[in-house]
Amino acid sequence: MAERYGAYIGGKWVNAESGETMEVINPATGQVAALAARCGPADVDKAVRAAVEAAPAWAGKTVGERSKVLLKLSQIIMANQEHLARLETMEHGSPIRKTMNFDVPLAAEQFEYFAGAARAMTGETLPVGPWCASMTIREPLGVVGLITPWNFPALMVVWKLGAALVTGNACIIKPPSVAPLTTLKLAEMAAVAGAPAGVVNVVTGPGETVGEALVKHPDVAKIGFTGDTMTGKRIMKLASETVKPVGLELGGKNAFIVMEGADVDSAAAGAVWGAFFNSGQVCAAASRFYIHESLYDEFSKKFVLAARQLRYGDPLDMGTVMGPLAYRAHRDRVEDYIKAAKEDGAKLLLGGERPDTPETRNGFYVAPTIFGDCTNRMRFMQEEIFGPVVGLVCFKTADEAVSLANDTRYGLSASIWTKDVRQGLVMAGRIKAGTVWINEHLIIFCETPWGGCKESGWGKDLSTMVLDEYTMTKHIYIDLIGQPERPWHGLLK
Ligand code: NDP
Repeated sequence: MAERYGAYIGGKWVNAESGETMEVINPATGQVAALAARCGPADVDKAVRAAVEAAPAWAGKTVGERSKVLLKLSQIIMANQEHLARLETMEHGSPIRKTMNFDVPLAAEQFEYFAGAARAMTGETLPVGPWCASMTIREPLGVVGLITPWNFPALMVVWKLGAALVTGNACIIKPPSVAPLTTLKLAEMAAVAGAPAGVVNVVTGPGETVGEALVKHPDVAKIGFTGDTMTGKRIMKLASETVKPVGLELGGKNAFIVMEGADVDSAAAGAVWGAFFNSGQVCAAASRFYIHESLYDEFSKKFVLAARQLRYGDPLDMGTVMGPLAYRAHRDRVEDYIKAAKEDGAKLLLGGERPDTPETRNGFYVAPTIFGDCTNRMRFMQEEIFGPVVGLVCFKTADEAVSLANDTRYGLSASIWTKDVRQGLVMAGRIKAGTVWINEHLIIFCETPWGGCKESGWGKDLSTMVLDEYTMTKHIYIDLIGQPERPWHGLLK
């Protein structure tokens, strides 16, 4: 029988008030992997009450005390590395090779990073005049709501939770319904690490009910959201009712530009990584490829050849590098984009079908798919696919490449492949995106800020910048004159 998970509220596992559950499906087999609580607004309210109660004592600890909880949590994560990796593989379909060696160790490292970074936070003293002292201090916001997507179930929550916790906030996490289990486990581990009851809560259930109740709740001070642009717009609207700040990490349609004279072998290897890591379910995945006309044929051949080697199959097999897509409806949506690309006249160079092997037959697999002879006007070159499907476009000049790259409503990331670093830097300055890589695609460090512009959202995750997202800067002014009448009081006389 499938294991049953409750919500995690006030340090306890609890069923949804309604008693309802929802199925978590293993995307590699199509079978039910577990049952999770299908919570509703009443459960959100319960979690908010638990967090409101816990918040003052958590905020009242020193940053060093909170930092130690994060360091302990990082150790607990690594002590349970295999368990967490298997859980994430089961609910999301990511190959165990990746969850063991990437997601789980990185989640542990990111908690370590936040534990250290917060201890270096400072305020300012402002030399406005000799008769006063003026300073800024940073305060936690109180209770924050963190709404996360399914594409990296552990990492997407750690990015927000690490920063929000260490800065002294009590958190309510609304994890993705298709993959909520890793988040639940992390909350339990946070309690073992020393986070008091009510400081980390997880409420599972549909975004339209649980997510919206969290966004609208008057006692929630901020929403940190990663997910689809349409959902982000809806959250902005709802948050405006309580004038609640929102951090939005939204979709992307990321350009990969290969300039004349670039190292084609290196670019082709980077293209396979940038396009197909995590089966392309990455907000920053390379999806629009702009190739200089002098290299178009050579690059296409090498890219296709390298992508053909990717081994997809059972995600629990250490040899598998590509797993299924995360759920059935998403697989169907990705296949619709493949159909649309063909109808728009793109030339299929690789893939375009479901792999049909005994290992993959029941799962939600899509083979790595590359289209050539594309234009920006094709629908699949404008909309975020979030799967292993990319298109190649040929260009002649650097100006044309920049203008093609900017021809999108998104602004998350881009990469430029060139031997001329000066040219790369100039182009990077002209591309409207939150991150531009030169001779690399899709590399993210704890220390570097992450976030987009345009319809890719605003605000930053990671780096010390995210600490600003979960604190309020308060200005404090102290009069040093000590006289009943100040000079400016004369203005009223
Ligand atoms: P969704 O926007 O569908 O879901 C994200 C989260 O929001 C889920 O927990 C979901 O709950 C919840 N949600 C859905 N509707 C609402 C609502 N009306 N109010 C409040 N919460 C809601 O995105 P996906 O999970 O499909 O994630 C994929 C998207 O995330 C892609 O567009 C991708 O680009 C983006 N992303 C962006 C990143 C970045 O850093 N910019 C990083 C990773 C992903 P439920 O699961 O129950 O529907």
